[in-house]
Amino acid sequence: MDHRAQRAAQRFEGRSAAPGVALGPLVHLAPARHDARQYRSAGEEHEALADALASSQADLTRLVGAVEDADAQAILSFQIALLEDDNLAAPAFALIAGGGAANRAWSAAIDPEIASYDQADDPYFRARASDLRDLRDRVLRHLAGEADRAVPAGAIVAADDMPPSMFLATDWRDGGLVLRRGTPSSHVAILARSRGVPMIVGVDVDHLGDGADALLDGDAGLLILDPDPDMRADGCRRRAQQSEARQAVASFSGPALTASGERVRVMINVTGLAELEGLDPADVDGIGLMRTEFLFQGREHLPTEEEQYQIYRRMVEWAAGRPVTIRTLDAGGDKPVAGLTQPGELNPFLGVRGVRLSLRHPDVFRAQLRALARAAVAGNLKVMIPMVTVPWELDRCRALFTEALDELQREGIKAQLPPIGMMVEVPAAALTIEDFNADFFSIGSNDLIQYVAAASRDEPQLLELARPSRAVFGLIGHVVEHADRTSRETSLCGDLAGDPLHVAALLDQGLRIFSVAPGALGPVRAAIAGYSGSAA
Ligand code: PEP
Ligand code: MG
Repeated sequence: MDHRAQRAAQRFEGRSAAPGVALGPLVHLAPARHDARQYRSAGEEHEALADALASSQADLTRLVGAVEDADAQAILSFQIALLEDDNLAAPAFALIAGGGAANRAWSAAIDPEIASYDQADDPYFRARASDLRDLRDRVLRHLAGEADRAVPAGAIVAADDMPPSMFLATDWRDGGLVLRRGTPSSHVAILARSRGVPMIVGVDVDHLGDGADALLDGDAGLLILDPDPDMRADGCRRRAQQSEARQAVASFSGPALTASGERVRVMINVTGLAELEGLDPADVDGIGLMRTEFLFQGREHLPTEEEQYQIYRRMVEWAAGRPVTIRTLDAGGDKPVAGLTQPGELNPFLGVRGVRLSLRHPDVFRAQLRALARAAVAGNLKVMIPMVTVPWELDRCRALFTEALDELQREGIKAQLPPIGMMVEVPAAALTIEDFNADFFSIGSNDLIQYVAAASRDEPQLLELARPSRAVFGLIGHVVEHADRTSRETSLCGDLAGDPLHVAALLDQGLRIFSVAPGALGPVRAAIAGYSGSAA
């Protein structure tokens, strides 16, 4: 091995969030340096803001011509219209005339506008607050001399953090992701695993240069810049081996059976129709979790009843009689939805999220329940409610569902009430599971673990605490035992179910229904096949 070349390579250790190896150019998405501007004179600050506004308008005009999606076009046109209105920037120019710096004046002028959109009663206007924020940041980027960054396919992206909506909008073919924040349980990591994008977290990305050759090792939690030829060859070899190994475990298709021949059901977790492409419904035991909040993110309007109905119906039809469990909106926590979730919560994971949010937005909830009741006619649909803490929340949802059904029937629209279950992810619910009138249970280990350990699922420093403990397995066993005794089904749809290392411990607790990311189907079935009974 060439030791001089080896010294040139730089290693950055982080934590694995999604497995796999990627090789490509590093693209560092630096946060906007909003405060980095040096004040010059009032005249120059005025000119700088005028230039930044004109450049932003030129960007947006170019973009609106390039996108085909109607929603994206509407957002961009709205931003252009705002820029064309002199009233928007007038307070900023007034502040500059009084001695303010262009960037601070622009933020001071637009932040109150954003706040007033945020507080609007109409969800349509609240959703526009995020468009305004976007526009504010675009102008600030121009003032800071930063250009817009397009992420080329095959790049290894390094960033401080990334919202799930941006992850979904990026082309990740052959690429990978390195974040400073986030943990393996954060939603962007869940998405990365389900789409097979190698990802690591906990790397100080601040000083990473752009354009360097990079090797991302999602298994070892390692980023290597300027890998020498040996490292590069090793990376290529491992990438090839991995795809072979994936194909090999993928051959664990068909019904999952333990070594003693006991049948275990393995379903999949999805966020939309895209993940079903190329998947044969006959190869899975159904959909155990459809996270609907991703239908609500990064859009101008919340999805209508009709849009939701079309998606839910197609999902149920895809499954051809197999169960499809659709979860009502679980926005909040690390899944904000513009115009719906509450900005500025001190502790969003303990805040107004999941069913707490839905019950506070009856119109939004009613549209989703109506869409679900209509889709229930098309096949084997089940609906589950997230973040249930006390029995009356589930009772209230059942009552609202019945009202939505009555309404549809009065309107002559075909609909039916599906079985209504609950996520078990709040310790209070797990401990008093006997009190809930649920048709089925699905354990959300991602949240259950963080609430049992009082250790946030997105805090990298607390990974040692936020792991499946005896306390967590005890609660899982308690829920499964109650469900078995009362002839109800329990599945586990948190990421714990997709980790082959924990499959035996979950089977020991009596769990017989797993719901996992599509990429984990093979490994989990292989682990089930190796299980020959409780070690105890
Ligand atoms: C969970 O908490 O385990 C779960 C499946 O829900 P989410 O990860 O979407 O919060
Ligand atoms: Mg959860």
